[in-house]
Amino acid sequence: MSNLIFSDSFINGEFYKTDTHFSVNDPATEKSIVDVSDIDERGVSLAISAGQGAFVKLKATNATERSETLMRWYELVIKHKQTLAELMTKEQGKPLKESLGEIDYGAGFIKWFAEEAKRSYGDVIPPTDNTHRLTSFKQPVGVVAGITPWNFPVAMVTRKIAPAYAAGCSFILKPSEHTPLCAIALAYLADQAGFVKGAFNVLVSQDAKTVGKMLTDSEIVRKFTFTGSTGVGKQLLSQCASTIKRTSMELGGNAPFIIFDSAELDEAVEGLMAAKFRNSGQACVAANRIFIQRNILDKVLSKITPKVAALKVANGFEDDVDIGPLIYPKAKEKVQQLVQDALDKGATLIGDNSDLGGSFQNPLIVNNVTTEMDIYHEEVFGPVLTVIPFDEESEVLALANDVPFGLAAYFYSQNIKQIYRISEGLEFGMIGVNEGVISNPVAPFGGVKQSGLGREGGHQGLDEYLEEKYVCIKV
Ligand code: ADP
Repeated sequence: MSNLIFSDSFINGEFYKTDTHFSVNDPATEKSIVDVSDIDERGVSLAISAGQGAFVKLKATNATERSETLMRWYELVIKHKQTLAELMTKEQGKPLKESLGEIDYGAGFIKWFAEEAKRSYGDVIPPTDNTHRLTSFKQPVGVVAGITPWNFPVAMVTRKIAPAYAAGCSFILKPSEHTPLCAIALAYLADQAGFVKGAFNVLVSQDAKTVGKMLTDSEIVRKFTFTGSTGVGKQLLSQCASTIKRTSMELGGNAPFIIFDSAELDEAVEGLMAAKFRNSGQACVAANRIFIQRNILDKVLSKITPKVAALKVANGFEDDVDIGPLIYPKAKEKVQQLVQDALDKGATLIGDNSDLGGSFQNPLIVNNVTTEMDIYHEEVFGPVLTVIPFDEESEVLALANDVPFGLAAYFYSQNIKQIYRISEGLEFGMIGVNEGVISNPVAPFGGVKQSGLGREGGHQGLDEYLEEKYVCIKV
């Protein structure tokens, strides 16, 4: 189909229809894009069997073949870049220029793991006596199931499916019910690229709980990978305990963004705009707590305030739009509650908070945020920049670390000793130093503390889908 819009789950290389449907809406217009089939329990069981059958077939492939198939998938995704990006803006709302960027970024994982597929080396271990030879080699984990969120409907999918296929694993994916269309389109293109049938199944469902439970309870599924909120991640992790599955969890963050007085301020402001407002602030790595050293506070605010006011809020298809709608009206309600709580507790508002209708939220700056406010502790997931003034380096490091999360952190400094001290002191899995956008397929993405387990991307991303087998031979 030329627009790559499909309305059914995709199991064993075929579309799977059911009689019950739900609507996937465009968050900008709140109108239905298409009614999609809601998967039934039979479909989930079929997908698990398809994954099991495909895993047997994948064992007969080799890394070079899988690499070539992945490269064909990469080429098809790039060939359909414009169509996929338009589909993404339609179902997710982000500005088209950001959707185009995400297709490149998401396709980057496919290309990277096409290359890494050939590098799953094992070890030759020096023996402790002369009568044994010790080796270890890597084998695919088996059938994998995964659940992905709505904020990056392509990249969150490719960075799981590509390493799984590279390793030789089959996959059953349940994408977010808000953005299933990109996932189905990706599975369709993977099939066109020559994926083993049943190696990439997509289950479209609005009953995430039931589908999640069937996937986590299955003894056939050997690994579970999740990207989403920490609350749901904890629940899925405990469900995986019953069958001792391998797990990867990419969960919530609460990223500090620190501007020290040694920073190059124009660069810091530019980095902050990207780290805060990309995807309307709906990213787990979005800057959430902006710490600015008090002696430069006024200067930074005077630079950033006009930039925030100039951001264009509109349908993602309009020209030069910076901020699309939030994913649904409830997301805007949550942002409004967090802002109101902060204002009630003494914060000050910079910007126009009048209602733009629908799920559109004007970008705002909330200054003088303190640890008493909910907005300090929760992911805002919206275009609101919260400012916390600080005086001392030791004070800001303690504040930055004093949250249960540890995904991404950013800081701006031109002081080399400070750069080392803060990079080493921040308890986060990823640090941007004088840089506000750090995600890259070639680097390990992931968090510490309650932000998750495991890494995606980098050479580490392949190991998440491999088991290491030790072989001891007596000679
Ligand atoms: P977000 O707030 O970003 O939507 P969620 O963690 O709620 O984050 O959702 C991420 C993914 O998890 C989505 O695909 C959603 O359908 C799924 N999900 C939500 N609740 C559950 C659950 N109880 N069990 C399994 N999956 C769930």
